Amino acid sequence: MIIGYTSGVFDLFHIGHLNLLRNAKGMCDKLIVGVTTDELVSYKGKFPVIPFVDRLEIVRNIKYVDAVVAQSDMDKLTMCKKLKANVMFVGDDWYLNDKWEAYEKEFAKFGIDIVYFPRTQGISSTQIGIALQTLHNINELSSLSVCSSRLIKVDSIVLSVGQACNLKCKECGALTPYAPQEIRKYKLENIIQDLKLFIKNGFEFEHIQIQGGEPLLYKDLPELLKWLNSSGKFNNIVVATNGTIIPNNALLDILKLYNIQMRISDYDTTKNKETIPALINILNQKCIRNYVYQFMSGKSLWYQKGGLEMKRENDDKIASRRFSMCKNNICLTIENSKLCYCTRALNAPLIQGFEAKNNDILNISDRPALRVEILNYLNGKHYMEACRYCYGTDENRLISPAEQMP
Ligand code: SF4
Ligand code: SF4
Repeated sequence: MIIGYTSGVFDLFHIGHLNLLRNAKGMCDKLIVGVTTDELVSYKGKFPVIPFVDRLEIVRNIKYVDAVVAQSDMDKLTMCKKLKANVMFVGDDWYLNDKWEAYEKEFAKFGIDIVYFPRTQGISSTQIGIALQTLHNINELSSLSVCSSRLIKVDSIVLSVGQACNLKCKECGALTPYAPQEIRKYKLENIIQDLKLFIKNGFEFEHIQIQGGEPLLYKDLPELLKWLNSSGKFNNIVVATNGTIIPNNALLDILKLYNIQMRISDYDTTKNKETIPALINILNQKCIRNYVYQFMSGKSLWYQKGGLEMKRENDDKIASRRFSMCKNNICLTIENSKLCYCTRALNAPLIQGFEAKNNDILNISDRPALRVEILNYLNGKHYMEACRYCYGTDENRLISPAEQMP
């Protein structure tokens, strides 16, 4: 009996997969198929659209397939030996590739032939995946929608005015207490310049959240809010505060006049225990929209992401998993002429002292193709070097909010 083995991700099962399995079954008596686990796929910085158990079930029910196994590592030879396979089927894109020439010799030592099949032209999971990823990014991740040939609507964006803060939370997700002087406050004209670049390139924003550090420490906040309102490109403007500062009357008037919302983070620290009720009271009196993020209620969680002491995580699989499981990888942030889909990752290289990789962060200095570069950046989301220095949102690392440094 000839036992054949082939393996693959079999994501978004298509006609090319069926052709491969049909051809393989035609050349053996029993065809065993290894379906690549999600962890192994994510090791390469990719993420299958269809989860492993579903992919396994789909392949198991193809009539040419006699059995399925999980392929959880790159070692096909060990799997073939374990299954007592006589032949291994692979796509011809591997043919004459150095790696497979070496494999052929290694497999031959155990009497296993490698047979190459031509890939079906015009279809691949990668192509379908790119199309889906683009739609996914447009609809959910980057919250973009192209309204016309010119206009791109962004659902939600964070704008940082600088990393100055009057609290020193030990596990500040954005590493703010460690921020060097040069990023503690940005010039108003530079912030506006960055936003103008987006507008010039056809972007509009449904929801913009101004944050710091603590944005109420930013003395040009009233001017910034006036500008945001007058530009007409930001529908809902929100200021996120840690609740320790009561705005002065001039700022309160602006918040009211422009219908700006305050987002108050209630960490239940001694530092804002009294100010938060007073703040809410005055906002309500002035009819200024506000809502509270109650970290102690368990509704909003606080994760230990790690600080300066973090050692680089060299395992690609772990870094990739952190990113894919992270709830903060959709926090599209503009700060200091940079764009990043994670607020922390934007400054982490500077603060934690490592180099960001290509495409981790997009520099938005004025370039002719900026619009395309932004779209490409948002469509090419991947784990970043910063994820190697961050625990992400690990449910095993839930901690009390805002514990203060000594
Ligand atoms: S988490 Fe704490 S230190 Fe970090 S910005 Fe918020 S209030 Fe400031
Ligand atoms: S794991 Fe990566 S995406 Fe998540 S918070 Fe950390 S750096 Fe950002």
